Amino acid sequence: LPDPAPLVARIRTIPDWPKPGVLFRDITPLLLDPQAFRLLVDTFVIRYMHEKIDRVAGIDARGFIIGSVVAHQLNAGFIPIRKAGKLPFTTLRERYTLEYGEAEVEIHTDAIEPGARALLIDDLIATGGTMVAAANLLTRLGANVVETAAIIDLPALGGSARLREAGFSVFTLCS
Ligand code: 5GP
Repeated sequence: LPDPAPLVARIRTIPDWPKPGVLFRDITPLLLDPQAFRLLVDTFVIRYMHEKIDRVAGIDARGFIIGSVVAHQLNAGFIPIRKAGKLPFTTLRERYTLEYGEAEVEIHTDAIEPGARALLIDDLIATGGTMVAAANLLTRLGANVVETAAIIDLPALGGSARLREAGFSVFTLCS
């Protein structure tokens, strides 16, 4: 796989956003740079091009940006996994806990067939709550989650470990 250093160099850290004490990892400089954006997409495509991937599922909202382009390149369909209340058709819903409070993600019930192979993509894994909930939605529909993938892992928050404990494979470009 390509060296991720040019990608890492374009992730900007914003202190105290969205609230005091948080270091927010901002990927918009990476997306703005044509070579970096291509390298990002190519890295995921190279990793999965020899796997049979039926669908790429992207998590609302930054997972849509990466996931839809990777889906296109892999000749796979794209599934949006959205925050509750955004999807119009029949959905499955998973609730998960945030640092303060709770959140919910949803998937359309016709998004994938039992036994089909899905790649799940988001920009960042922190506590892993979002990615575990999204992976559970795919699993509840009978899909085979080939891997959960993100640009950034924050290992101190334990999310990637939690995903692995739940039986999901995890791939991230940097920590
Ligand atoms: P988790 O559920 O793993 O605690 O949080 C991950 C989710 O929150 C992802 O959907 C991700 O987009 C968002 N998120 C949390 N912290 C950050 C951050 O520092 N940078 C970015 N880009 N997204 C974050």
